[in-house]
Amino acid sequence: MTGVSAESLPLVARAAQFAERTAIVMGDRQFSYHDLLEKSGRVAASLLARGSDLREARVAFAVPPGFEHVVVQWGIWRAGGIAVPLAIMHPPAEWSYVLQDAKVAIAIASDTFYDGLLPAATELGLDCRSSESLYEFPGGNYLPQIEASRRAMILYTSGTTSKPKGVVSTHDMIAAQIQSLINAWAWTERDRILHCLPLHHIHGIINVLCCALWSGAACEFLLRFDVDEVWRRFLHSEDLTVFMAVPTIYSQLIQAWQKFKEKEQQAATAACQKFRLMVSGSAALPVEVLEHWRLITGHTLLERYGMTEIGMALSNPLHGERRPGHVGTPLPGVELRLVAEDGHVPEMGSPGEIQVRGGTVFKEYWQRPEATRSAFTEGGWFRTGDIGECHDGHIRILGRSSVDIIKTGGYKVSALEIEATLRVHPLITQCAVVGLDDLQWGQLVCAAVELQPGCDLDLQELRYWGKERLAPYKVPSRLEVVQSLPRNAMGKVVKPKVLELFSDA
Ligand code: AMP
Repeated sequence: MTGVSAESLPLVARAAQFAERTAIVMGDRQFSYHDLLEKSGRVAASLLARGSDLREARVAFAVPPGFEHVVVQWGIWRAGGIAVPLAIMHPPAEWSYVLQDAKVAIAIASDTFYDGLLPAATELGLDCRSSESLYEFPGGNYLPQIEASRRAMILYTSGTTSKPKGVVSTHDMIAAQIQSLINAWAWTERDRILHCLPLHHIHGIINVLCCALWSGAACEFLLRFDVDEVWRRFLHSEDLTVFMAVPTIYSQLIQAWQKFKEKEQQAATAACQKFRLMVSGSAALPVEVLEHWRLITGHTLLERYGMTEIGMALSNPLHGERRPGHVGTPLPGVELRLVAEDGHVPEMGSPGEIQVRGGTVFKEYWQRPEATRSAFTEGGWFRTGDIGECHDGHIRILGRSSVDIIKTGGYKVSALEIEATLRVHPLITQCAVVGLDDLQWGQLVCAAVELQPGCDLDLQELRYWGKERLAPYKVPSRLEVVQSLPRNAMGKVVKPKVLELFSDA
């Protein structure tokens, strides 16, 4: 047996209480909490074969979603290392950047990714291991005591202007993020969640996976998001109770539902009744998507707001009014304030930067002391860079100050607000609004749109339509029709890339 030390990580220690319960489901295969403890103990022991504690050594891993991924994550933590999950859909060139920036000591890959990771790891002189070899390690080591203040994870966030930065959180920050959500959304061991999100991002790691495992609930994995497979699981996985996704996933599920035959639609709608909670986040949830989803499933999506650096900060309530277009009130343990440009609290309904403080906020940007310093105020508030407005205590997000707040002709306009209006246009299926620097206007409102198949739209028509619904300075003055908007692995539109669509003219 492995893991003979008293377990010092709460997430792992709690697993012993649920030993015989199902932790992970992958198709027909089920793994218990006992399996998770046993295999992750082996991984830890293997990583410790030449020492007694990884002492915050960075361990990067490229392992697909599922039991093996979790086993490696826990193994790294139990051996005292810092987990650096790699985005499995990224090319090796992007892995190289992370391996170098995080100064990774050990790189782990499953069979599928080993050949891709090996050259990058070898070039940097890293110890590259196959995950399969770790699970089979005989074990027997004492596992180290891990103090809660130890660094646990580095997640890379794509910067809008600079290279991705590593966001470092400690074990106690992760525990605080998990507990806040468990408390707010009433997770219990009777829950079962369908997991279809990437595992290099906070949404999939904390909100879905870690919350489920902390609670003794079951986490049912899909290898990747696939709209038909999600509907199939909704229909056939009996015990699902919770689902969490980004808005684009809900849009795709809606589109798929619309193509079902009437009987299938009825069955799909009925299948949604077994859920107790469906959550949307990581990007603004268009009100039409919320309404459409409510129409076909009866669920009012719970929209929440968060970011890699702060975990989740705002949420609509589990019970009570969920306000469309709003992200609710601060979650348990989160201190949050709005700060206007003049440094004061803005008046009710006026914009200000969202600033957050508390145990859920990250420790630092990895090896970037200057970036870390400038991200916090003197009072220790993290400047999110997101702009919000408060309406009777409920926050509405206007977007990121760097890309979504457009200054045009002396006005400040929210790209998110214009996008919400454009989405009502009968030909527009998706859109992204950006501000292009302009000598005369400061910035020009530019819209990139995806259209219904076979349709066309020109700027004049759009402006004519827009003027009836938007103040004149909010109506786009440039239009690009695109096949598909540039999106990242989370399905979020990458605004700097949208801007490039306009900047050549
Ligand atoms: P990430 O660190 O990748 O999770 O991205 C965090 C960013 O996503 C935040 O800073 C916001 O700009 C945006 N975001 C997250 N949730 C929401 C939401 N519910 N509405 C609008 N923007 C959101």
